[in-house]
Order: sequence, then C-alpha cells, then structure tokens
Amino acid sequence: MNQDLLQQLLEIVGEAHVLTGEAVTSRYPGFFMTSIGADAIVRPKSTEEVSRILTLCNKHGQPVVVHGGLSGWVRATQTKAGELALSLERMNVIEQVDPVNRTAVVQAGVILQTFQEHLEPYGLSFPLDLGGRGSCHLGGNASTNAGGMRVIRYGMMREQVLGVEAVLANGQIVSSMNRMIKNNTGYDLKQLFIGSEGTLGVITRLVLRLRELPRSNNTALIAADSFDQIVGLLRHMDAAMGGMLSAFELIDNSFYSVNTRDGRHTAPLAADKPYYAIIEALGSDQTRDAELFEIALTEAGEKELFVDAVLARSDKQREDIWAVREDLQHVVRDFQPFYAFDVSLPVGEMSAYMAEVKKRLHQHWPQGQIAFLGHVGDGNLHIAIGAGAAKEREEIEACVYEPLAPFVGSVSAEHGIGLEKKPYLGISRSETEINLMLGIKSLLDPKGILNPDKIFSTQSVPKQKAA
Ligand SMILES: Cc1cc2nc3c(=O)[nH]c(=O)nc-3n(C[C@H](O)[C@H](O)[C@H](O)COP(=O)(O)OP(=O)(O)OC[C@H]3O[C@@H](n4cnc5c(N)ncnc54)[C@H](O)[C@@H]3O)c2cc1C
Repeated sequence: MNQDLLQQLLEIVGEAHVLTGEAVTSRYPGFFMTSIGADAIVRPKSTEEVSRILTLCNKHGQPVVVHGGLSGWVRATQTKAGELALSLERMNVIEQVDPVNRTAVVQAGVILQTFQEHLEPYGLSFPLDLGGRGSCHLGGNASTNAGGMRVIRYGMMREQVLGVEAVLANGQIVSSMNRMIKNNTGYDLKQLFIGSEGTLGVITRLVLRLRELPRSNNTALIAADSFDQIVGLLRHMDAAMGGMLSAFELIDNSFYSVNTRDGRHTAPLAADKPYYAIIEALGSDQTRDAELFEIALTEAGEKELFVDAVLARSDKQREDIWAVREDLQHVVRDFQPFYAFDVSLPVGEMSAYMAEVKKRLHQHWPQGQIAFLGHVGDGNLHIAIGAGAAKEREEIEACVYEPLAPFVGSVSAEHGIGLEKKPYLGISRSETEINLMLGIKSLLDPKGILNPDKIFSTQSVPKQKAA
C-alpha cells in the first residue's frame, strides 16, 4: 500500500486505529480463511471519518474491504495484499431507542446480541436472530440481508430496516434515515445497500424497526418418520397458532446424532428418527398461549404429523433444545473436510432434492457424511458435508448445486455470494440480471474499489457511457 496514503489514514483516525503487520495477521480472519491478507486495517469512529477515508482511497484507486463482525460464511470479507480492510468495530453506539415510534437508530458496528439485550428494559425486541448473534454487526446483517430463525414470522433483515446511512466509494454520504414503515417517494435507495455485501457503499448507521417484546414463549421438539409429516406439521402449527408461530427449524437425524452423541448435548428425544423439528411460538400471555400450543400439538399428534414430542417446561429445557440445533462446532470438527451450503427451494420439493443430493454424494464418496438443517418454514436448507479431499471441492459443490436447477432454487438463501458462491451465481440469476447489477456497481463505484471481485468480477464492470 502507498505509504503516503497510510500516513493520511493515520491522520484521519489516529495512530492507534491504523493496524499493520502482526496487529493485522494475528487477528481472527473469519470462516474458511486462514489469515487476513490486507496490508492494513483502518478503524474509523464516525461517518465523517469513513467519508474521508473513502474519498482518499477513491482518489488513489485503493481497494477497500469492509469488515463487520466477520461471522459470514462465504468469504465476502477475504482480503489480499494491496487491499485495505475497513473495520466498523469502533462504530458501536446505540444512538437512540424510540419506544413511541418503535424505532432505534444505531451505528453499523453494534453487535446484534448487544442490541437485542439493550432493548429488553424498554419492553421492545429486535426479532432478527441467528447463531452468529454474539459477533455479527447490525451493519453486517444489513449488508448480507441476514435471515435466521424468525424469518417465518418477521421476515429477513430487509424487513427490519427503515433507514440507512451509507458512504459511497467517492466519499459521498447518502443519508436515507427514514423512520416510517410507509414511504413510497420514488426509488427505495436503502435497498441498494441491503444485501449488496459491501460492494456498493459502507453502511454507517441504520434506523431499525422494533417489535413488542414477546411475553410468552412456547417451544417443543418433535420427531417425525417422514418429511411429509414435517410439511404437514408446519402448516398445521401455523394455522393453529394464529400468527404466533415464530420458528420452525428442521434437524435431520445425521445432525441430531452428531450433536447428541458422546455426551455432547443431552438428547431430548431418542436419536432414532429421520427428522426432528423445533417449533417455537411467541405471544402475549404465557398461560393462555401454553394451553393453545399444547392443544395444537395434541391435534397434530392425532393427525399423525409427528411420532414423538417433548415440550420445554423451563428456560433451561428450552435452551437445551435450541443447543442441539445451534451448536455447529461438532459437525465442523467431525465432518472433514468440512463444506457448508445454504440453499433455498420450494418446501414441497425439499424431500426430493435432499434425496438427490445424498444420492450424488454417495455415488462418488460412499463414506461421505452429510447433514441437513433448515429454516424449513422459509424454504431454506443448510447442508453440511464431510467428504472427499479439499481439491475435490468443485465435484462436491456440483452435487449440491446441479440438482437445484430443475427446482429453480437459490444457491444462497441468506449467506450471500462473497467469493464462495461466485462461480454459481448464474444458476440463480439471469445474464440480464447480472448485467444490471454490474451497471449499478459501475454507477456507484466506477473505480471498483469497494470489495473488489466479490459477488462478481469487477474487471467485467461495464463502463458507463459518457453523457
Ligand atoms: C454460528 C453462526 C450461525 C449463523 N447463522 C446464520 C443464519 O441463520 N442466517 C444468516 O443469514 N446468517 C447466519 N450466519 C452468518 C452471519 O452471521 C451473517 O451473514 C451476518 O449477517 C454477517 O454479519 P457480520 O457483521 O459478521 O458481517 P461480515 O462477515 O463481517 O461481513 C459480511 C459482508 O458484509 C459486508 N459488510 C459488513 N459490514 C458492513 C457495513 N457496515 N457496510 C457495508 N458492508 C458491510 C462485508 O464486506 C461482507 O461482504 C451465521 C454465522 C454463524 C457464525
């Protein structure tokens, strides 16, 4: 990196906040990455500092990769020599909680879990929830349009964001800090920054929509003999709980067994059924809702929509049930080499798809391990595979992605594209769509300095015609 540029960055943020050398290489690099390759990490404290940094970098054609909480799974934060990482970790202020309008204004570097906990005394909640809650940033959640456990009820991050402040590649600050749910005044510009993985601008602040804090929580784990039962149960519980169904998480036997063997987690139900599902309903009255939940489950049992079930009777039991779903460390360790996928397709096609992926994998690698997890209510499957050798990655990816094509499924339900899924973007997006994305990139970041080569190749950004 240009030393003059480094010196000027230092003048903007202060000496302590431009990291180089071991201060960079000793930091956690993120999933599926061995080290941070960037020459330096700059850590601004305010939108104005971000703006000054990008103005400078744009002038020098300096590539910049935004780092949020580094909890992403698609190597969207990967850097190489010559690049600058811009970390939002110091921009972590919850600026305002407005209980009347049920909105909050936050800086992008606030950690999701910190925000969730901050809201409780106000009797309010932020419904986005995912396993990476302890490290991911709200800005990262917006940049990836994160999903998670409660999409079935509240939608993805996109639905929780009312306003965005972002800094463009040329340093210009775009303030679109809308606080209303309804605002149809032309193009909804904030949507450009949501889900664009740091390629169109740096999100610095957000206005978020809040909900009332649920006063009841009812959770059950069920075991099923068939995927048809799971699909039938999903519909039944959704209808019976009258809008309170907030999570419906599939766990297959393979994943369940990994997490409940060798004294890892206590199995709430025996590990001898092909499918399990965690069902959660959030409502307003614990006594009344618990009764409704039990009636709904009893009816489901009578309709033979599951074969065994356990209800959480305490917070501890609820945590134990969720731990079987959320703990990923054992599968990452046991399945080697480890591959993780995040696809979506219509729920009605999932059973056939899972069977096809398994068949293809075992044709090539009869001893290959595979497990399915899913936010099944949203048509989202996570697939963990341990098979082959690291150099056989493409063949393994083909087992997962090729069978998606007939179902017009998506190669990324919620994790984004980054570098990991870049070669497969064409399965889910047409050439016309990709060219339009490239055109937007070219308009907002003509020099291609922001997160270069993520999602698609910036070298192929079409040049804008001179006016
Ligand atoms: C255990 C575990 C479970 C998970 N479960 C889920 C899940 O259920 N659903 C789900 O959707 N994800 C899940 N994730 C993935 C991850 O937590 C999300 O993708 C999260 O939204 C990433 O946020 P982050 O701050 O860590 O972003 P990073 O990983 O730091 O960055 C992700 C992308 O966003 C960009 N970016 C980050 N901050 C900004 C910003 N302020 N402005 C512009 N660009 C920015 C980066 O450049 C990069 O392209 C899980 C992760 C873990 C570790």
